[in-house]
Amino acid sequence: MPSEKDGVMIILSSPSGAGKTTLVNLLSKKENYVVSVSHTTRNPRPGEINKKDYYFVNDDEFERLIRNEEFLEYAKVFNNLYGTTRTPVIDNLNKGKNVLFDIDWQGADQIKNKKLDYKLISFFILPPSKEVLFQRLSNRDMKDKLIAEERMKQFERDVLHWINYDYVVINDKIENCFDKINNLIQAELNDGSKDYDLNYIRNHIEKLTK
Ligand code: 5GP
Repeated sequence: MPSEKDGVMIILSSPSGAGKTTLVNLLSKKENYVVSVSHTTRNPRPGEINKKDYYFVNDDEFERLIRNEEFLEYAKVFNNLYGTTRTPVIDNLNKGKNVLFDIDWQGADQIKNKKLDYKLISFFILPPSKEVLFQRLSNRDMKDKLIAEERMKQFERDVLHWINYDYVVINDKIENCFDKINNLIQAELNDGSKDYDLNYIRNHIEKLTK
């Protein structure tokens, strides 16, 4: 039975290249926070560790988990399947741990629609400008500018989902962004006042989508 002592679910989503993974890693260092480790059918990137970064599984295993209804949510992202299994999440929440989810908007929608008895706070992280985003994407995929261009197009589609999140935070500088997220979480947990300017966010999104 969920209770007051339960942990909260904290979702971070963002278009590719907005710096979300770094933020999740920083937040996970806070006391009482754990990261939900997803399953995926994509291949590991150099340096990624099975069961730490992801559970890397093949299509058959992923299909089996779907059939067994083990997923809290799952979705296809860039031609690969990604999913969050329910049991570790619920176990951690029941132990009072706050669970961080690094998932896309499809997964965020699914979890929101489940209306679980646990508090949910969702964040959508955006880059400070299209130019900075392109730079970040090009650095990451040095070998292939085409990938960066493709992801820019994807960005224009993904950004439209900001409306379904509790908060949109701009990642101008990682420390500032981390502080903003922390402050908003604390305000949510303690019913405190929130430093959040929705008009500013709307203007920013208008600039990003022009
Ligand atoms: P990457 O392959 O770069 O690690 O992740 C690609 C995208 O998939 C990111 O936007 C990431 O947030 C999302 N993602 C990672 N795990 C999950 C998951 O379990 N469910 C969903 N819906 N998206 C995920």
